[in-house]
Amino acid sequence: MASVLSLGAAAVYLQNPATINATINATINATINATINATINATINATTGVNLKNRLYVLLTAVLGLASNPGSAAAPDAHAHWTYQGKAGAAHWSELDPVNAGCTVSKEQSPINIDTTLAKKSPLAPLEFDYRAGAGEVSNNGHTIQFTPQPGNVVKVGDESAELLQFHFHTPSEERIDGKRFAMVAHFVHKNAAGELSVVAVLFKEGKANAALAPIFTALPGVGAHRTLASFDPAELLPAGRAYFKFRGSLTTPPCTDGVRWQVLRQPVEMSRTQLAAFRKRYPMNARPEQPLHGRMVEASE
Ligand SMILES: [Zn+2]
Repeated sequence: MASVLSLGAAAVYLQNPATINATINATINATINATINATINATINATTGVNLKNRLYVLLTAVLGLASNPGSAAAPDAHAHWTYQGKAGAAHWSELDPVNAGCTVSKEQSPINIDTTLAKKSPLAPLEFDYRAGAGEVSNNGHTIQFTPQPGNVVKVGDESAELLQFHFHTPSEERIDGKRFAMVAHFVHKNAAGELSVVAVLFKEGKANAALAPIFTALPGVGAHRTLASFDPAELLPAGRAYFKFRGSLTTPPCTDGVRWQVLRQPVEMSRTQLAAFRKRYPMNARPEQPLHGRMVEASE
């Protein structure tokens, strides 16, 4: 038992400071689970003779795997497993777990199709990105590839300011514009001081290789794995144009929490077919289907 606890604690030192709290919680939870499992296994081994060290190694791998996943570290096993297709796919998310009820009953779910002929031209406040180069972690949480930066990246919309928590990718793009899906989308997830989420979507179309993506896409980690980038500037992924569509929506993954402010940048950026193929090797399809508008208004910046 002692070796599980000490190695579990050692794993904490490998994390970046922003994720240490979540990691500690995950490690404690995972260690408790591992300890219980190890006790059970030790009892089994006493009668079957299976090597306990091998079993502990497997358990330790599980501990490290959970600790390395900041996106879901707070409650690694609290909710039901979900996927995009099949029995645990998007059509069944609300049946998998009571906390996912909103996936079906909420009237402001994402993603949506943006009909540009119906979008209302509005004097929307400009999106002002105060992003900067800094260290961060690329991780694969089993649903997408995510980049988690150090704190200090902010988007301002009018007098609202929100901190960038992470960005991640979906293919094809979850958003449609006039019915058309793009090759990929990046969702930049922000949170303001009141705890409200604000997502900025950047669409990708196939074309030239995207140099800004390269540091992340040249070595996409496998499920549960992560790697640290010494310096990455999220601003380099943004298009030059800042025109955008605005609407109210939700998280596009369980538990589909609504009340999320969505801003979809109108101008796509490019990525190469090779880059797209590299992502699709990890995730061939990780996009939720289009959700009904239920009378929501989409605004377009002038
Ligand atoms: Zn997303």
